Amino acid sequence: MASLEISKIDENAVMSEWTNIRYEIPAEGVARITLARPEKANAQDYTMLQELNEAFDMAAKNSEIRVIILAADGRHFSSGHDLSATSTMESIEAVGTWCHFDAPGAEGYMATEAEMYVGLCWRWRNLPKPTIAQVQGKVIAGGLMLVWPMDLVVCSEDATFSDPVVAFGVNGHEYFTHPYEVGARLAKDMLFTGRAITAEEAHRAGMVSRVVPREDLESATLELASHIARRPMFGLTLAKQSVNNTLDAMGMYTAIQSAFGLHHVGHNHNFRLHNSLVDPSGMGVIRSEA
Ligand code: ZN
Repeated sequence: MASLEISKIDENAVMSEWTNIRYEIPAEGVARITLARPEKANAQDYTMLQELNEAFDMAAKNSEIRVIILAADGRHFSSGHDLSATSTMESIEAVGTWCHFDAPGAEGYMATEAEMYVGLCWRWRNLPKPTIAQVQGKVIAGGLMLVWPMDLVVCSEDATFSDPVVAFGVNGHEYFTHPYEVGARLAKDMLFTGRAITAEEAHRAGMVSRVVPREDLESATLELASHIARRPMFGLTLAKQSVNNTLDAMGMYTAIQSAFGLHHVGHNHNFRLHNSLVDPSGMGVIRSEA
């Protein structure tokens, strides 16, 4: 009987196309994906998200990799979605089942966010290998959508986390797991006030696994990854899936989808009132409080 041939990715060919991220193997069994757009505080456009997805796939399909770190260059982990981005869905290869991204009305934009935001986050959350976010500086709105799908979070003492997009007339960012991440009370506090919670506050709330000095962030994360990578792959996969299944049994996926529907009520309300997906006064409110 012929053995099943696993298709091998030509990693160098895939990586040569990337302009927003890096991929390295800093220790045995560990892949590190790095957001490499520090001049833009690692703001995400669709191209960066597609590259990230390819990198996660690459690490997941490489049988020598057991743990994946998601890190970022520069002072800040990520300022969120790049509001000045010009990339469109035309240049993106969808990996989910959503389509009709250019349809008029609510249809096209909802499909776009379902594919690029909720869809990719959920895909990464369910990768069958442990993932660790390595976080410094500010994490704002869409930045949380890269941190929260990871299994563990190591951050430096200067890290802060915020989702101020209620000022834009929507409920929060699209991957709405806030109550699962920080608890209902702190989730409402973050959303209502738009304030940034500190690393220590996030640690107390259980959102962050370890807080370390800034100069130790990279080594502490790598040490944790290498420690985990010494365990059997399948055991790790089963442990991860068991915890994720527990969250799913608590309604996590349904809650995300429910909030996503409300998020699009917000977008459509704004469109009817302001002819814009977001309330245009939002940026002024956020800047005045920064
Ligand atoms: Zn949105």
